[in-house]
Amino acid sequence: MLEFLAPADVPEEPSMLNLAQRMSRAKPSAIMLVAEKAKKLKAAGRDIISFSIGVPNFLPGEHVYAAAHEALKHDSGQYGSNRGSDALLDAFLKHLREGGFEGYERKHLATGVGAKQVLFNLMYALLDEGDEILIPTPYWTSYVDIAEILDAKITLLPCPAEQNYKLTPAQLDAAIKPNTKLLLFNNPSNPTGMVYTPDEVKAIADVLAKHPTLWVLSDDIYNRMIFDGLPYAHLVKARPELRDRVVIIDSISKTYGMPGWRVGLIAGPESVAQAIVTLNSNHITNLPEVVTAAAVAALDGPQDVPKQKNADFSKRRDEVMAALTAIPGVRCPRPQGAFYAFPDISAAFGKKHGTNAIANDVDFCNALLDAKGVACVPGSAFGEPRAIRISYTCKPSELTDGLKRIQDFFAELK
Ligand code: PLP
Repeated sequence: MLEFLAPADVPEEPSMLNLAQRMSRAKPSAIMLVAEKAKKLKAAGRDIISFSIGVPNFLPGEHVYAAAHEALKHDSGQYGSNRGSDALLDAFLKHLREGGFEGYERKHLATGVGAKQVLFNLMYALLDEGDEILIPTPYWTSYVDIAEILDAKITLLPCPAEQNYKLTPAQLDAAIKPNTKLLLFNNPSNPTGMVYTPDEVKAIADVLAKHPTLWVLSDDIYNRMIFDGLPYAHLVKARPELRDRVVIIDSISKTYGMPGWRVGLIAGPESVAQAIVTLNSNHITNLPEVVTAAAVAALDGPQDVPKQKNADFSKRRDEVMAALTAIPGVRCPRPQGAFYAFPDISAAFGKKHGTNAIANDVDFCNALLDAKGVACVPGSAFGEPRAIRISYTCKPSELTDGLKRIQDFFAELK
């Protein structure tokens, strides 16, 4: 556990009653803890700008609320489908077709309480204890956290800033062993904002085609947040035969500004979708009717809010990049999607801000928060301790102010 992220109130374990062994491997989400710390300082009256949590910070269109109200009026009060309602599955099928995916039917789909729970289900369904999972690094924290709970064998594939934080085909080819079970592929990426080009995706798909026993979880939840006219490239579009073992993961959280509504979706092989349905039948049972109606409206209705937000985020990306490239020694591969930047700040290591010595990313984030009131997530939370994550969805004025504070912080290092 990073010191910066230590949870405040961990209850003591009673001496005779033990939790399951697997809980010794479970830890709270590091990102949530940073966000909590920033929130507490703000509540205590500090002038805090939070670049920490990955929430889109906008609300969905009015039609989404109208659909939720309407659903309330007609609430059946009953349990629903373990897979997801037909209306939701059909709305997702439409969304898939618009994204260039053909040939999927309801039986290839399943839903869950956000992409995070869906990912947990998928990894639970695909990984036995000790099975190897490949995780390109930097990674979204929950991939590793969930794999650890499941006692999988995690092999990290380092993709440093020097290779634009992207997995290379040669690197993947060298990492796949006969018994490697699963690859996690995230595009666009959290935490780096990197987007693979169609050629890059094709080259990775070609490697995967050579290894027919490898499953792939493709976390594509930022697929409608891609800038610079880049297309949404995908392993399944590059090589349709991979459909038998690539699972597409989607969510309404980021695209539609609905992270609290908790709807995640998958499209994949029938056997995998069915496994999720079975797991759902043993825990969540179904998504609530009102939530489902809102999700259908978001997926099916006018897309102007997500389009507008995508344009906004691309402008903010430009602002973030202009500020970061002006700081000597900071290197930030240019994000082309999502709403994160992941600058390498290791130039600050070995220096001091006031009396605060900065030996690593955690010291950096602590000193930045203390001195300037700017909260960022240390890169080690994502497996890359030379960087920090900036989530740039705050108010525009806060973004400008926060970036200026980071520049001042660097200028004051000795
Ligand atoms: N996958 C990635 C890459 C994410 O960044 C997140 C949330 O931050 C999730 C999955 C989880 O999304 P959801 O809100 O649908 O659980």
